[in-house]
Amino acid sequence: MKTLMNRRAGVATAALLCALAGTAFAQGNIDFTKVEIKTAKIANNFYALEGAGGAIGVLTGPDGVFMVDSQYAPLTDKIVAAIKQISDGRIRFMVNTHVHPDHTGGNENLGKLGVTILSRDQLRMRLAGGQRPAPPIALPTITYNETTTVHMNGEDIRLIPMFNAHTDGDTLVYFPNANVLMTGDFYRSVGYPFPDRNNGGSVKGLIDALQAVVDLAKPDTKIIPGHGEIVDKTAVAAHRAMAIVIRDRVAAMVKAGKTADEVVAAKPTADYDAKVPQGATTSERFLRAIHAELSAAK
Ligand SMILES: [Zn+2]
Repeated sequence: MKTLMNRRAGVATAALLCALAGTAFAQGNIDFTKVEIKTAKIANNFYALEGAGGAIGVLTGPDGVFMVDSQYAPLTDKIVAAIKQISDGRIRFMVNTHVHPDHTGGNENLGKLGVTILSRDQLRMRLAGGQRPAPPIALPTITYNETTTVHMNGEDIRLIPMFNAHTDGDTLVYFPNANVLMTGDFYRSVGYPFPDRNNGGSVKGLIDALQAVVDLAKPDTKIIPGHGEIVDKTAVAAHRAMAIVIRDRVAAMVKAGKTADEVVAAKPTADYDAKVPQGATTSERFLRAIHAELSAAK
């Protein structure tokens, strides 16, 4: 009972932190009637859509639409309308980069429209389970746990598993022709990194995933984060370097027996705080995640 209550308290705190930072999971805080979907052309037949929640990617062409992530359910009509502006409107596939509701909330609506949903095995399990299981129509019908390729519109779309990074069900989506990488939330160009330990994320896996992006990206590859501005690989490399510096500082403090509160009070991110654009994940949240992971490993 105690464990359950603690877990509930943890979930509530995480939701509150998100809400305070302005990119809420909790859709109760967003007035969806006011949200407009903005479409940006990224390549010849590739678009990024921005509304509320995680970035959406849209590959268009004669074979129909391949889509990355679904944002929140109340936005599906607007998203589908925006996709009709840039394509024939036949949405055939949608892949979820990870389980969080600002990336999967529209799954049920898209499922009802006949869209085939893809994801990692772990993502499907989490979506189907938990305290509020998603209805079957919202669940991915095709799942994978190794690199999987979808051939459409002249693209070889690669769905690349990233293990225990932001969550345990992350996928890096690569469009080689369009020269675009979509990371989901293991990389965001705002805020500190967020290894969601409640959903199988880890600092180690997140840093490894950032390296995978740096290895795969060409100098001119457009990297679309789960949240924040589109960047190139130099920004991801810098973000990874920062994560490692901070992790190592916390590691030294954990070795010296410091508690999480003591680590936060020591402000080991002070030299980065002014440089990191404000996002959902504060310095404190990142520090506590590192402390918990390294303490557990001791
Ligand atoms: Zn997320």
